Amino acid sequence: MNNQIRVRFAPSPTGPLHIGGVRTALYNYLFAKQQGGKFILRIEDTDSNRFVEGAEKYIADAFEWLNLEFDEGPLAGGKHGPYRQSERKEIYQQYVTKLLNSEKAYIAYDTPEELNTKRKEISNFQYDASTRMQMRNSLALSLNEMEALNEKRTPYVVRIKVEPDIEITVNDLIRGEVIVNSSVLDDKVIYKSSDELPTYHLANIVDDHLMRISHVIRGEEWLPSAPLHVWMYQCLGWEETMPQFAHLPLLLKPEGNGKLSKRDGDRLGFPIFPLKWVDPQSGEVSSGYRESGYLPHAVVNFLALLGWNPGHDEEIMSMEEMIELFSFDRCSKSGAKFDFEKAKWFNHQYIQTTSDEELEKLFRPILDEKKVIVSKEYVEKVIGLIKNRAHLIDDFWDQGSFFFIAPTSYDEKTVRKRWKAETPEQLGELINLIEGVEDFSSANIESLIKDWIVLKQYHLGNIMNAFRLALVGEPKGPHIFDIAALIGQEETINRLKKAIITIHKD
Ligand code: GLU
Repeated sequence: MNNQIRVRFAPSPTGPLHIGGVRTALYNYLFAKQQGGKFILRIEDTDSNRFVEGAEKYIADAFEWLNLEFDEGPLAGGKHGPYRQSERKEIYQQYVTKLLNSEKAYIAYDTPEELNTKRKEISNFQYDASTRMQMRNSLALSLNEMEALNEKRTPYVVRIKVEPDIEITVNDLIRGEVIVNSSVLDDKVIYKSSDELPTYHLANIVDDHLMRISHVIRGEEWLPSAPLHVWMYQCLGWEETMPQFAHLPLLLKPEGNGKLSKRDGDRLGFPIFPLKWVDPQSGEVSSGYRESGYLPHAVVNFLALLGWNPGHDEEIMSMEEMIELFSFDRCSKSGAKFDFEKAKWFNHQYIQTTSDEELEKLFRPILDEKKVIVSKEYVEKVIGLIKNRAHLIDDFWDQGSFFFIAPTSYDEKTVRKRWKAETPEQLGELINLIEGVEDFSSANIESLIKDWIVLKQYHLGNIMNAFRLALVGEPKGPHIFDIAALIGQEETINRLKKAIITIHKD
């Protein structure tokens, strides 16, 4: 066991957590568990403009549902807290001062308008070694000018000073060595006096350092920031403890061109978030995997394989297996296409291995919503009969509503084909037969009814289809005798009677 392994998931609470973020967290989790390390949640909420009410709670709820537990975090606690960046203001201040004192950073007063003017003046303008002396900052201004600005309490930012033409190497566990010339980097803003808060870049690396993060496992979209982070680690003298990087491939649209977005989910009808999200401002509702009838482990298993493979063909994996087999070597460098049908396939598989008792609990809210009052035992039996047809929990209703509500209409095509002139009379005989049955088990009624059909020389297909029509209303559902046995003798008779009265063929 290596207790030095510490990884973090560091979302910004700017809205609901995207499924890609869930995958990032999952890989962090798998790696931490495998290494006997710690899995930490850090809330990166320094950008107050982008703060969204309820987003942090959503993150906590999502991981609770997925059963991915954090060892340290705002709720779990831990000795490296606070775990919300907004509560760590003073900590960052020290490092801003340290960087300024060691001349690794400088103060800049350029207004947004001035920056815009410069952008127009110089094509591909970048605030860096080649331009910084033309700007209004502590490197270019005289002492007097600086004092005057200070006196007026002019708002300023602090920028990191990137030296030009230095090779910066990022060692990435998935991508290998990524070498970047420092001249392509700009002097990023690391602190703003207006809100007294650091920007993402500073807060992120300071916290990774102070929280003793050993591995930064995050989405590929952060790869361009990594050279700057390496540079900043050097500026702060923290090279020795710099975490290892692993940038995960993007989750791509199902068609494979570009990053998977909420719009793809809306367009193709699948959720892009773990849980339902109601936007606090617009009231817009986005669907979630939980509310769409997915089992958490199916979602986890599906996500684990989007960008990593275990080295064998078996796709259904327990958490223990995934933890054991996870490796960066088997993470792909190229993006992973989001295959929604595959998500459903996983869920179908997991429904089969989940107990009827467990599934009953998940199905119950749907029954409540439909105002169906029925015993737990009955529902479990229904689920036992139809689960092999279900991909989502909602499918239990689509596949089995007739177990709870008698049909009110009858499939026209089946009526046309199977409801003969003699059918009402034959079903009348069937009612008589059923009324006399003592053992109303599926096997017993099956043999009694089949014997009767043979004896009467009736058409087996026509009788069976008419029988199903009466009980189900449509040509679907499990074995008809299982249905009859479960809804019971009385209900079977009632439904037969109702069909005889209702179905008229013109
Ligand atoms: N706050 C960043 C995000 O929202 C974190 C990136 C990182 O993991 O370094 O994804």
